[in-house]
Amino acid sequence: MTAIESADAAAIAERVEQFVRNVVVPYEKDARQGMHGPSDELVDELRDKARAAGVLTPHILTDGSHLSQRTTALVLKKTGLSLLGPLACNTMAPDEGNMYLLGRIATEEQKARFLAPIVSGRARSAFLMTEPAEDDGAGSDPSMLKTSARFEGDAWVINGRKAFITGFNGARVGIVMARTSGTDVVSATMFLVELPHPAVKLERVLDTIDSSMPGGHSVLTIDNLRVPVEQVLGEVNEGFRYAQVRLAPARLSHCMRWHGAAIRAQEIATGYACTRRAFGKHLIDHEGVGFQLAENLIDLKQAELMIDWCADVLDSGSAATSESSMAKVAVADALFRVADRCVQVMGGMGVTRDTIVEQVFREIRSFRIYDGPTEVHKWSLAKKIKREHASRAK
Ligand SMILES: Cc1cc2nc3c(=O)[nH]c(=O)nc-3n(C[C@H](O)[C@H](O)[C@H](O)COP(=O)(O)OP(=O)(O)OC[C@H]3O[C@@H](n4cnc5c(N)ncnc54)[C@H](O)[C@@H]3O)c2cc1C
Repeated sequence: MTAIESADAAAIAERVEQFVRNVVVPYEKDARQGMHGPSDELVDELRDKARAAGVLTPHILTDGSHLSQRTTALVLKKTGLSLLGPLACNTMAPDEGNMYLLGRIATEEQKARFLAPIVSGRARSAFLMTEPAEDDGAGSDPSMLKTSARFEGDAWVINGRKAFITGFNGARVGIVMARTSGTDVVSATMFLVELPHPAVKLERVLDTIDSSMPGGHSVLTIDNLRVPVEQVLGEVNEGFRYAQVRLAPARLSHCMRWHGAAIRAQEIATGYACTRRAFGKHLIDHEGVGFQLAENLIDLKQAELMIDWCADVLDSGSAATSESSMAKVAVADALFRVADRCVQVMGGMGVTRDTIVEQVFREIRSFRIYDGPTEVHKWSLAKKIKREHASRAK
């Protein structure tokens, strides 16, 4: 990052922080939030305010290009200071990762039709990859992909079911991953679809532990969806490669946002520990409490350094496959420990909805599963260790 980039990024991050703390935080108790996330009415209202404050989609520049990952980290951590911040500023998942992918792979026509409405904050998007476990579909193992696309006449025809699709309910743009060839070797293709579409039917919105994402997480059926060739994203049969293009930065941007949320939880828990008294002194003066907050500080700093390191690797042009696995595992686990300690430090208050600490805990618990469960990242790192050992032994 050059000195100019760094100064610009610091200024954007400062504006975002002021906006999130002063404008977004007061909305945290707004009743337009339920088990399946904040309503679109609330999201639109927050986005109008972000637009007016000049902090809507702050990580995408006016020419459509994306800030460097290192710079993005500065900004996204600030949007994460409230669980509503990423929705207000349009840095939330899955849109952030989808914008990044479309910016890298889509044609100019596709960008105008599918990317521009997302960047403007007027449309939400969904990424349709995972499939129901009961269908033996793709989950941790993407090669189990069952949704298929076959070319018929002048269009691709897609059939299948998807599960856990964040934001599908209410989204206007969908990126659908479907199998396009292979029995021994599975190849997949990504398709762009305008939503809602009569051939893509919502089965149900899942009741999950987390509740910060608009539209929740859906199970859906794709029934003879016809997609013209101009809506193929990139090249046919390159879907898994593009998924990697999206996944490494997308999982890192989750780390950035949840880092901001964990910082906020730490602030709230610190406020509690410095004012609440037990056994004749403030809680923070009991070593058992003070040490928990100190351990949080250490976990937060280590997580920040992992994020910055992985961002630098991505900015160098590397796919950062292993680095993003390491960062995702380390950061998700560290932030979960931070959130858990914040709950504990706050006693009964920690498990109530009087503060956002309880929700931060729930949200970060889910993060240890999506964008690759911890064990899957460790497993793929172990395979790499074995490969490298074998090549050294030759
Ligand atoms: C809140 C949330 C939002 C999501 N949003 C989206 C979305 O928008 N779009 C989308 O396509 N998907 C989404 N997903 C799906 C997510 O990507 C999957 O849940 C994830 O890939 C794991 O797949 P699975 O749930 O089928 O778990 P499974 O594949 O059934 O795995 C279950 C567990 O087995 C273990 N495991 C699996 N493989 C290995 C291994 N090789 N070694 C050791 N342990 C292993 C892991 O502990 C794993 O947690 C979301 C999930 C959640 C929870």
